[in-house]
Amino acid sequence: MLLVTPQTIPWSDVRSLLNHQAGSMHTPDQSRAVSPAPPVAPTAPAGPTPPVAGPAHREPAIPEPAIRAIRLVKTYGEGDARVRPLDGLTIDIAASRFTAIMGPSGSGKSTLLNMLAGLDTPDSGEVILGGTPITGLKDAQLTALRRDRIGFVFQAFNLVPAMTAEENIVLPSQLAGRRVDRRFFRRIVDLLGLTDRLRHRPHELSGGQQQRVAVARALVASPDVIVADEPTGNLDSASGEEVLGLLRASVDEFGQTVVMVTHDPQAAARADRVLMLADGRLAGELHSPTAEAVATALTQVTARATGAQAPSAGAHSAPAGAHGGGAR
Ligand code: ADP
Ligand code: MG
Repeated sequence: MLLVTPQTIPWSDVRSLLNHQAGSMHTPDQSRAVSPAPPVAPTAPAGPTPPVAGPAHREPAIPEPAIRAIRLVKTYGEGDARVRPLDGLTIDIAASRFTAIMGPSGSGKSTLLNMLAGLDTPDSGEVILGGTPITGLKDAQLTALRRDRIGFVFQAFNLVPAMTAEENIVLPSQLAGRRVDRRFFRRIVDLLGLTDRLRHRPHELSGGQQQRVAVARALVASPDVIVADEPTGNLDSASGEEVLGLLRASVDEFGQTVVMVTHDPQAAARADRVLMLADGRLAGELHSPTAEAVATALTQVTARATGAQAPSAGAHSAPAGAHGGGAR
């Protein structure tokens, strides 16, 4: 049994590393169907993000959302067991921003994230990733798109058990046929406190270390978007803070786009924007919120959803309180 003391990551070092590495992180890959862009998207000016009032307020430096989801509908099951986790949801995920997705349990957060990342396909509606409509793609094309353009961080870490930490970190790049920048690799694993763990297999690592391996894996592959589903859900608060700090720094310092599902208001408050889901729809959003504001909004949305949610689809227009159970 390994006893591991969580190491504190020096964020100033991470920032300088990310600045230094920004160019090589985004080495042009001709096979990617991305529009011409400077190597690094400019980072946002400091201060709260102004409320978006419409297309006229779009910031000129970020002309295209990283992902657009348009009228997504997804239904599972039949008859009484029928649920509709997405019910005509339309959202944009801004490039070079940290977006959090919240909502009551069962409100469709993971379903949405899976659609945004091409892991699942909607019944109807459209997902556009970096200008590419992905909804009609064949399985092989979707697999290639996920491999080349999305970085994944899951609650359960999803490391390959038989592979060492190092092999796990470089796996997506190898699968994509991309050369791994060894210098960058070494520096990032050093800063993540993983240098002396590279030969270890996941079961020999603490939860925090396993998640740091997963984050390193996502960063080293320099994807267009990192999607994270409850990335701190299995971690103690110190390890969770480290993971959130790294996701935050990757957005601030080299313009990485991050979308994170969480049920933790403290975690969501690290994001630039928080989207609230309820009953498969957008129930509200907050910009640069405090944890308290997020918690209050989540409580309100949960109370409304609990009152209005029914187990079958089509109940969403029912008045609050008209349906009993169904909320989970
Ligand atoms: P959240 O992540 O917000 O907790 P999910 O998106 O995981 O919620 O699930 C939303 C609803 O869809 C839940 O009622 C869940 O049981 C259902 N669901 C999700 N995935 C499937 C699936 N593959 N098959 C059947 N039902 C599913
Ligand atoms: Mg979920």
